[in-house]
Amino acid sequence: MYGKLYICATPIGNLGDITLRVLETLRMVDLVAAEDTRHTLKLLNHFDIKKPLISYFEHNKQYKGAVIINELKAGKNVALVSDAGTPVISDPGEQLVKECIENGIEIESLPGPCAAITAVTLCGLDSKRFMFYGFLPHKKQEKLKELEEIKNIKYTLVFYEAPHKLISTLECINEVFGNRNIAILRELTKIHNEALRMTVSEALSYYGEKEPKGEYVLCVSGAEDKPEEDDLFSSMTIEAHVDYYVEKGFTKKEAIKKCAEDRNLSKREIYNLVMIKEN
Ligand code: SAM
Repeated sequence: MYGKLYICATPIGNLGDITLRVLETLRMVDLVAAEDTRHTLKLLNHFDIKKPLISYFEHNKQYKGAVIINELKAGKNVALVSDAGTPVISDPGEQLVKECIENGIEIESLPGPCAAITAVTLCGLDSKRFMFYGFLPHKKQEKLKELEEIKNIKYTLVFYEAPHKLISTLECINEVFGNRNIAILRELTKIHNEALRMTVSEALSYYGEKEPKGEYVLCVSGAEDKPEEDDLFSSMTIEAHVDYYVEKGFTKKEAIKKCAEDRNLSKREIYNLVMIKEN
């Protein structure tokens, strides 16, 4: 009889968040497949669990996936863990799950900590509907392109981000989405956890004076309903349209850009009109 793959969520900062079922399962399985075996060894030592470990991460998943499948076929039970949180969610595991399904191997998922879900519960934005995006690409042009693709989504958008890329990601969000509401959740479940709820441009000012440190989840409010705004804009002069965005907290330059987009005109046309009237 084949063994079973257990997907085990582990704490994202507070060891007290491990579930009873994950502990029982880690004690029961024959093998633990871990993203970083040194990291997982510390977790197992903390709970006094001794198990053989096998590494399973992005760059060895092809070869190690086959090894794990063979162990499962030989009747061994395997727990899959990542460094923190729920495996498969912006972490290794997707490929292994597919391989188990293809090979008729049973899988059980043991729910537990996940940074995205923890962030959504704290963000204070619309949480009835949200979209998990995970990490944006590293390169600015690719980041802008992917943001452009999702800018009209009305649901709260959830991103993971590393501290050294936080400011550039906020700048890109501001450039593509405009000055939306954002919740920045830092170091969730850890001693120095922090929740900032502000606009994107306020967040940029905040991090202009404070270096980002730690782990971050960003929750950004979804796109506003356009049709109502479109009706409103059609009854406005171009100057009033630009002022509308300025009053919402956009800079004059950003307001001109947004007005141009709404009216399908060039920024230059709007700029010339607004500036001629002002002078
Ligand atoms: N699978 C994990 C989960 O379920 O949350 C996510 C793994 S992903 C490789 C790591 C990213 O998750 C970090 O860069 C950060 O964006 C987010 N993250 C993980 N732990 C966090 C924490 N304690 N506070 C804030 N963000 C966290």
